[in-house]
Amino acid sequence: MIIGILKEPGDESRVALLPEAVKTLISWKVTVWVEKDAGSRAFADDELYIESGAKIHNREEILQQADMILGIQPLEEKEISKMKSDAVLFGQLNALYNPSLTQYLINNNRTAFSMELVPRTTRAQAMDVLSSMATVSGYKAVLMAADLLPRFFPMFMTAAGSITPARVLILGAGVAGLQAIATAKRLGATVFAFDVRQAAKEEVLSLGAKFVDVEGAKEDKGAGGYAVEQTEEYLQKQKDTIHEHAMKADVIITTAQIPGRKAPLLVEERTVRAMKPGSVIIDLAASSGGNCALSQPESTVDINGVRIVGVGNLAAKMPQDASKMYGKNYLNFLKLIIKDGEIHLNFEDDIVTGTCVCHKGKPVSPRIIQIQN
Ligand code: NAD
Repeated sequence: MIIGILKEPGDESRVALLPEAVKTLISWKVTVWVEKDAGSRAFADDELYIESGAKIHNREEILQQADMILGIQPLEEKEISKMKSDAVLFGQLNALYNPSLTQYLINNNRTAFSMELVPRTTRAQAMDVLSSMATVSGYKAVLMAADLLPRFFPMFMTAAGSITPARVLILGAGVAGLQAIATAKRLGATVFAFDVRQAAKEEVLSLGAKFVDVEGAKEDKGAGGYAVEQTEEYLQKQKDTIHEHAMKADVIITTAQIPGRKAPLLVEERTVRAMKPGSVIIDLAASSGGNCALSQPESTVDINGVRIVGVGNLAAKMPQDASKMYGKNYLNFLKLIIKDGEIHLNFEDDIVTGTCVCHKGKPVSPRIIQIQN
């Protein structure tokens, strides 16, 4: 069996598997073909892949001959059409929210797995790319803020005077938010955090941050640990509380998302205008509508000295470790479906079923079947 790894498109600097992960695959009696320069932006050059036992091939050969293609960003339809009819496609296909690609895969009798569909269960944690990439984003967001802030993060008592610690407000304490809290604490900031899920409170406190309470949030045990949409009344109460905290903050990092919906608006324009000049907002939800009213995806906006950075794919800004984590998630998943160097799809396994968009054109994941009906 040949597993193909293609160079990712556009600005995507990660690669699905680094040479160290390729070595493991090869020990499973699999042949690995890597496109020329696929890992170069993650600092893994072709020689390292060759040393790990992979072969370098051109893109067309890989598309046409691989039995399985592992990627991160979705492939375009015209490239999928070149794949062997029984080849298996893997990637972060955004299958629930990219109906045209999902329909294309179904209509063309394809077999495809979409890594963001990995169930968020304890057993699947080691395969969860959403969590591993959110860890990278939360960390990197704090470093970006520290770089832009015209102040120190830690407290200093020096002969040149005393410096008070920066005050950081984290909105949304999921995977990215918790990592942002931990990173800001390590840099010495005073950290406040807020989330609609009460379960997040304990985690925030255990990291040494202060929890901002807004009473009356709606929760749904059936939402798989995710937040649900809130009432208008609650959202207004929340915006008012954030407004009060924002006026004292040096940095705000927003990470609040609701799967499949526009991100909740948490930082209003009046709040930005009330913030101290020099303060920084990093909006990790910018590409899904933004948690801040004035953020723009992939750009920095300056409002009276308050800089708002709208970021989307922050994981690509730390390609080496992000690729290492992605590759480890892939290996843990592939362990479930590769036996003696061949693919064996066991649809009795809820992780395999939950992640499979379609098998030979038939929708498999219950979440895909649900949107098909
Ligand atoms: P996410 O990226 O969808 O959202 C980020 C955070 O924003 C969440 O904590 C959410 O509660 C919060 N949020 C949403 N609306 C908000 C609002 N109006 N105001 C403030 N905060 C708001 O979520 P995520 O980080 O991917 O995961 C969320 C939770 O899912 C985790 O904390 C955990 O409980 C669960 N999870 C479980 C597993 C697992 O068991 N394998 C893996 C990952 C996550």
